[in-house]
Amino acid sequence: MTRENVGDTRWGWCCPHCNRDVDVVKDPSTDTFRWECPGEACRAVGFGFSSRRQARIALLSYRKRYENTYR
Ligand SMILES: [Zn+2]
Repeated sequence: MTRENVGDTRWGWCCPHCNRDVDVVKDPSTDTFRWECPGEACRAVGFGFSSRRQARIALLSYRKRYENTYR
């Protein structure tokens, strides 16, 4: 069990593609969280996460996969 209070005050996440800050928001229609890149040329998105923490973990692993692709 890891603690949930990891950086509650600054959820500054970066898009794995273009390094912009992405917003994580709750989708009230599905009761899940999603992150979305604001870059129009990028449009990276992830959705269906049960919590902000899950979204962050997914974003980090997404980034790792992306970086590995370009090794
Ligand atoms: Zn992006």
